[in-house]
Amino acid sequence: MKIISYNAKNFRQIEYMKMLPESVKQEIEIVAKVLPFKANNYVIDYLIDWSNYETDPCYILTFPNRHMLPEEDYNKVKWAVEKGLPEHEITKIANEIRLSLNPHPAQQQSNIPQLNGTPLPGVQHKYRDIALFFPTQGQTCHANCTFCFRWPQFVKDLDLQFSMKEIDQVCEYFKQHEHLHELLFTGGDPMIMSPRTISKYIDTIFKADLKNLTTIRFGTKSLTWWPFVFLPQYNDEAQEMLDLFKRIVDKGIHLSIMAHFNHYQEMSNSAVAEAIENIRATGAEIRTQSPLLNNINASADIWAKMWDQQVNMGMVPYYMFIERETGPYEYFQVPLAKAYEIYTDAIRVTSSLAKTVTAPSMSAAKGKAQVMGIIENPLNGEKYFQIQYIRHRDYNQSYKPFLMHYDEKATWIDQLKPVELQLQNQ
Ligand code: SF4
Repeated sequence: MKIISYNAKNFRQIEYMKMLPESVKQEIEIVAKVLPFKANNYVIDYLIDWSNYETDPCYILTFPNRHMLPEEDYNKVKWAVEKGLPEHEITKIANEIRLSLNPHPAQQQSNIPQLNGTPLPGVQHKYRDIALFFPTQGQTCHANCTFCFRWPQFVKDLDLQFSMKEIDQVCEYFKQHEHLHELLFTGGDPMIMSPRTISKYIDTIFKADLKNLTTIRFGTKSLTWWPFVFLPQYNDEAQEMLDLFKRIVDKGIHLSIMAHFNHYQEMSNSAVAEAIENIRATGAEIRTQSPLLNNINASADIWAKMWDQQVNMGMVPYYMFIERETGPYEYFQVPLAKAYEIYTDAIRVTSSLAKTVTAPSMSAAKGKAQVMGIIENPLNGEKYFQIQYIRHRDYNQSYKPFLMHYDEKATWIDQLKPVELQLQNQ
């Protein structure tokens, strides 16, 4: 199976697109000036239900629409396109809008560590035991998700990308930080890299003989967007990728594939089931994660079905995230109160094995803030969110529940007002 990529320049060639109104295609072109998009033939031919494209989760995950930009910004770009401004002027307008869309939420740039006084531009080290590595060759995806919080990784001219190739420096950093145990290859999608490229990184890690490295993770959406990465009968390089996984496991390193699934529809093809089987046969485990997204999966039924199906297919449900404050955030956001309701309604009806999933969490500046519950004071009817950091920059501050005033509309922790200490001690 050969990958055919589509983007703003050639998406009109897609056969199904010909059935769509011209106005829809123009909207895609306008929004794509600001938010990059990419699709491929597997997503187009096997995942999207074109007869219901307007509400189809895989279509919305793939093609930008006008509601993903604030009205004013959309009109600005539309005006520039219709006026026929030169491309560099449209890009200038687009970049101004991009910078207003909070390209690096949660102060990500402050997570870049230093090795002997020099910054490591392709590493983030926020939590005590894990470092994120952004390999240069993995800073794109098989198909971009419209909600992606990593969208600046795909906008070359903004110069906001995290990336580096020098894994030897990362190894040295590991040696200097004995509490580090896990290395997460992330992106973009590291599974976009050839097995040969990933092998070079892994061989350097093996050679460095890092006594404190116990786990390697790969964050990827390849199981969803391009499962052929793991199917030797369709892809000449797939066996090499599976062999690489086995080499990591045989080395005594725990290998975890962090798979992005946003909707159970993404698991409907037998290619996904087969890819999962092949990965698990190497000894690697697969954990699943997704943000809760309005217009995609904002319903308890969808999550319950998705988690149960993941367990049945041999995966471990891991994280339900709150959508980050970046990019087309307003289109996808779900208020915290609603998110908690969806989570509890879903988790109540899943099988026990699906209850491994962590309640809705915000990847905020201080750490991963989990909404643990909504509490009502029986004396005065006042409501509160109970929250805790399950990960915190200062690990001593994790797993300490605290209360914040309830706000039905709040979508992020910094919109909540803290409860006075006095009240908490009562
Ligand atoms: S797979 Fe992940 S990094 Fe890639 S576009 Fe989707 S959300 Fe972004």
